[in-house]
Amino acid sequence: GKAACECNMCYGGHDCSEFSPDCPANADSGDPLFLEPYWREHAASSAVLVPGWHRMGYSYTGETLISEALEGQVRKLHAVVGNADTNGKFILFGAGSTQLLYAAVHALSHDKNTNTSSPVSVVAKIPYYNLFETQTDFFDSRRYDFLGDAAVWKNRSDSGFIEFVTSPNNPDDQLNQPLLKGPNVKTIHDRAYFWPHFTAIPASPPDEDLTIFSTSKLTGHAGSRVGWALIKDKGVYERMANHLLLNTIGVSRDSQLRSPKLLKVVLEDGGRGIFEFGYGKMKSRWQRLRSTVSLSNRFTLQKVPSQDCTFFQELMRESTPAYAWVKCEWEKDQDCLEVMRAANIIGRGGALFKADKRYVRLRLIRGDDDFDHLVNRLHKLISREERRG
Ligand code: PMP
Repeated sequence: GKAACECNMCYGGHDCSEFSPDCPANADSGDPLFLEPYWREHAASSAVLVPGWHRMGYSYTGETLISEALEGQVRKLHAVVGNADTNGKFILFGAGSTQLLYAAVHALSHDKNTNTSSPVSVVAKIPYYNLFETQTDFFDSRRYDFLGDAAVWKNRSDSGFIEFVTSPNNPDDQLNQPLLKGPNVKTIHDRAYFWPHFTAIPASPPDEDLTIFSTSKLTGHAGSRVGWALIKDKGVYERMANHLLLNTIGVSRDSQLRSPKLLKVVLEDGGRGIFEFGYGKMKSRWQRLRSTVSLSNRFTLQKVPSQDCTFFQELMRESTPAYAWVKCEWEKDQDCLEVMRAANIIGRGGALFKADKRYVRLRLIRGDDDFDHLVNRLHKLISREERRG
């Protein structure tokens, strides 16, 4: 026979098939696998088979770096979802929104029209997605400095600023609007979560100078590394494109074979299939999470905004965000991450978003087993609460 396999901490037994009760509920990082059942349903129509000789070169016909089919599909997708106005805008694809977010900082801080000699200040309202800061610090240019909380600079936006605005926001789902305004302020709109799975799509699509989307939270193919930016200004587009050219010579041509195939399936029924599946899944998860947390006087969830949704034609649709932003309410629970850890739940602490340690973010978009495990752990933790008052 075969030697016993080396099990991880979640599975035991002689063939690693027994689920271990000590397995932590991992709600920190993880993949958007909540959409996997949708893709299993569409396994054949979404499959790609690429012979070895196909598309070996750098460029497409016409020397472009991007498949025209993909660009056309993205414009069509925004039109049917109603979450962006692509008219008169350039579209630039990147290796996920991660690459584009930095390309945008580069392009906006090299704007000759910004009449400042000092470095541009890069800011985001707290709580913010940590990458904005780590990436800006890491690339460490003389042109800009990351200065933290946008709220601090609200009435002092006379010098050059770049503000990241994420809406709906990671981690707390607020529908953020720019805090800084003025001739020397540029805004990067991160719309990674602006899809019907997670939030209402209002009647008129926002018309922004620079907006970044991604397939990661749209189709769930985070590993394909495909994102795009909608850009109004030609100069900004060209500087971003130049950054991508020098950095990676554009997006993997193989990803550009797979993505159009996936988007074709999405568009076949005008997005109804995938968004109904995604919204349905998130809605039932939020119902379970809410009813579990409602038994507690120790934890609260963020208040999620409701809005009329044009895509589903639903009035006052509650949002069903990708993350729960949990607050530990008891005086003694200063560190909510620790409270969770003691209950074998791994979240992401508020400190990482520059927020209070009383907050912890729990990710809700992995597979069903992961979500079940998380809710069971929370239920156990909450039912152990000593009743107070
Ligand atoms: N922006 C936000 C707000 C995110 O939460 C994420 C990923 N979690 C990204 C951007 C990056 O996504 P990607 O590079 O996969 O498109």
